[in-house]
Amino acid sequence: MLLAALITVLFVIAVLVLAYQRLPLLVFSLVFTVLLGIYLVFGDPSGLWKGLLLLMLVLVWLFNIRPLRKALISRPFLKTYLRLLPTMSATEREALEAGTVWWDGELFTGKPDWNKLLSTPRAQLSAEEQAFLDGPCEALCAMVDDFDVTHRRADLSPEAWEFIRQHGFFAMIIPKKYGGLQFGTYAQSSVLIKLGSRSVVLGTTVGVPNSLGPGELLVHYGTEAQKDYWLPRLARGLEIPCFALTSPTVGSDAASISDTGIVCRGMYKGEEVLGLKLNFSKRYITLAPIATVVGLAFRMFDPDKLLGGESDLGITCALLPRDTPGITIGRRHFPLNIPFQNGPVQGRDVFVPLDAIIGGPAMAGRGWRMLVEQLSVGRCISLPSFSSGGAMSAIWATGAYARIRRQFNLPVGRFEGVEAVLARMLGTVYIMDAARSVTTGAIDAGERPAVPAAILKYHLTEMGRAIANDAMDVHGGKGVMLGPRNYLARGYQAAPIGITVEGANILTRNLIIFGQGAIRCHPYVLREMQVARETEGEKRVDEFDRALFGHIGFAISNAVRSLVMAITFARFESAPGTGPVKRYHQHIERFSASFAFATDVAMLSLGGYLKKKESLSARLGDVLSFLYLASMVLKHHRDAGSPPEDLPVVEWSCRHLLYRAQEQLHDFLRNFPNRLLAALLRMLIFPRGRTYFAPGDRLGAQLAELAMTPGPTRERLCRHAFTSGAGNPLHDLEEALRMSVGVEVLERKLRVEGVKTGRVTALDTPGQIAQGRTLGILTAAEADLLRDYDRRIMHIINVDDFDPAELPAGRTPGENRS
Ligand SMILES: Cc1cc2nc3c(=O)[nH]c(=O)nc-3n(C[C@H](O)[C@H](O)[C@H](O)COP(=O)(O)OP(=O)(O)OC[C@H]3O[C@@H](n4cnc5c(N)ncnc54)[C@H](O)[C@@H]3O)c2cc1C
Repeated sequence: MLLAALITVLFVIAVLVLAYQRLPLLVFSLVFTVLLGIYLVFGDPSGLWKGLLLLMLVLVWLFNIRPLRKALISRPFLKTYLRLLPTMSATEREALEAGTVWWDGELFTGKPDWNKLLSTPRAQLSAEEQAFLDGPCEALCAMVDDFDVTHRRADLSPEAWEFIRQHGFFAMIIPKKYGGLQFGTYAQSSVLIKLGSRSVVLGTTVGVPNSLGPGELLVHYGTEAQKDYWLPRLARGLEIPCFALTSPTVGSDAASISDTGIVCRGMYKGEEVLGLKLNFSKRYITLAPIATVVGLAFRMFDPDKLLGGESDLGITCALLPRDTPGITIGRRHFPLNIPFQNGPVQGRDVFVPLDAIIGGPAMAGRGWRMLVEQLSVGRCISLPSFSSGGAMSAIWATGAYARIRRQFNLPVGRFEGVEAVLARMLGTVYIMDAARSVTTGAIDAGERPAVPAAILKYHLTEMGRAIANDAMDVHGGKGVMLGPRNYLARGYQAAPIGITVEGANILTRNLIIFGQGAIRCHPYVLREMQVARETEGEKRVDEFDRALFGHIGFAISNAVRSLVMAITFARFESAPGTGPVKRYHQHIERFSASFAFATDVAMLSLGGYLKKKESLSARLGDVLSFLYLASMVLKHHRDAGSPPEDLPVVEWSCRHLLYRAQEQLHDFLRNFPNRLLAALLRMLIFPRGRTYFAPGDRLGAQLAELAMTPGPTRERLCRHAFTSGAGNPLHDLEEALRMSVGVEVLERKLRVEGVKTGRVTALDTPGQIAQGRTLGILTAAEADLLRDYDRRIMHIINVDDFDPAELPAGRTPGENRS
């Protein structure tokens, strides 16, 4: 009896291992037949169990006979599938097909191939790019006074504008042959981090011409004549570009553009030519008030068939010089006290020749494809970089401030409550840096990862907002009082801007990440859809059959993998690395299998309705995002040479992300409409319950210490932030932090031997230092050091105050710089 039970258990384990291995159907069938034969002889199963196994054997072999399975399963299923297959507009299809599938695709397989990630080259700067960061970037940051920019001028200074133009800051994406800098993506991102860490206005001003807009569209789609004319002018800063897509009625749903361009004949520079009559009203357009050339997206119509084709040609992009008659431009919006140049543009009966279309008349109607192709990658450069720049300066400053700011006789960072916040900040900035470094490295290696771009856009801007909040909390009143000494508040105010632009975040999370990912990255779904839509007759049935059975085997294998790895904590999964690093790779594999399985069940049971169930898609998107970000953390650590001192940060980040992946999977199951399926999924995904824990307090304390200690972890993490230069608050903070390490010993001596014994009676620090010196508790050198330190601290913790008459905007404040 006992032996029979043991043989049954062994048989079940062997079958599970077989399914786990994801073997081809024929190989699986052969091995299964042998195993079952052995089991029937030695295990002697009976009754329903035996019947079930024999049925399984028959089915497995029937599935190997393709003509039979096509007739019985694939053909009837294809008919239903075609009926249920949602229609897809051309714009939706273009958005879906943009970019490439990279590591995101591996996470959808439930069995990611780590080689694909690990073989991606490390993000690196060329000598020229590094020199640009160390030279012109540092110089530009040093010349920008953010309070002057945001409060007094509502603009960058004329000197800064001139410097930007002269040094090619607008030309990072323009090829060298047109006079541009032709920097890699990682370098562009690093430049934007540095500038953004100094001033949001500066970062945005430089970021926009280097992202989706005339420059980028011309490089990729422009005619040679357009490139030859515009690119050198853009590179030299002779032209300032903007790109106008958004209008009052068309925001997130940008493809439903209501601005029009009608093909007609008209007069241009004294000649009658075929062209476009444009009517448009755009708003929120960055750089528009000062732009000399407007990139415009509009819907193009040819009602009189002058071009001989369709009358509704679709979305098209054109370039309009500012002085084209009919354009109204120059007024400014005022975005959240961050006065970068942004405003509306209107056009009434503006006539331009057809060669104003980017790429010429041949690109009429191709505008949407151009935009989504570029945005699908661009989304992971500008906004994630600005957010990272702000976050790096925030952790750099907050770690130092928490150590030098004392209350209750302790640095505030030593209190557990603040420690938790510092840990969260440090870990989050590490995740941000890892995600943008590894992803831009992949882009530089030739990938165009659309889904990761959406992941970075959403998560890094949200993380940036959370870090801005945390930094403000730790700084208390110092963060709230605006003035030249405040290095945080403008970044805090700017956070919602990044959330809104390039795909507002709620939409990006709920609709784009999973919506695009599920179809684009899934190893079978897009194939099934393409086969169903694009092929005909027997070929369609044949290819659909292959995709369908591949998909079924894939789903079964993921169910088994999910169950086995949940039970074993994925301990037996082969994975790169050693120790805790290996374990995080294994946990990613486990959740990847659970995610892939849950995705298949959701798509199969909800079909097109899943698109409407945005909260469910968002949770699956979160799981995908957290797995992606955790993978980036591991790769980034490896790329940095696996420094042991960063290991606690890696552990915190992975734990935090994987815990959140688990919680989002759990919430997905709690809200899954089909409760029976939800119960089945729960058994296979969480057979032991939710076993993954968030990072503990002890690990958090280690991170807080790293944040408050000058050293390689801080420096590596904030390597691209602007932290140098006397007078830069971030530099002053670091200097004080470095001093604090030695000074804390002296402060303790003065407190223990002087204040606590009652020998030192003064209440203020200078008085205590003086008494300590008189009493011989401190040497002269020690007293001098403490005085110097105290002066620096007071300089940092002081805030600005103003004469009431100076405060109205635009007046020059006479700040108190005591
Ligand atoms: C400072 C700034 C600079 C900008 N610069 C430019 C520029 O240079 N050029 C340009 O063309 N545009 C620019 N924009 C426009 C920007 O891209 C749009 O603001 C953005 O696309 C969102 O449109 P909206 O503000 O009209 O929000 P709405 O579309 O009105 O959205 C409102 C809310 O509804 C949510 N939402 C909408 N649809 C869905 C959905 N299906 N599911 C879930 N949630 C949904 C959104 O996430 C958002 O939270 C800029 C905007 C700002 C604020």
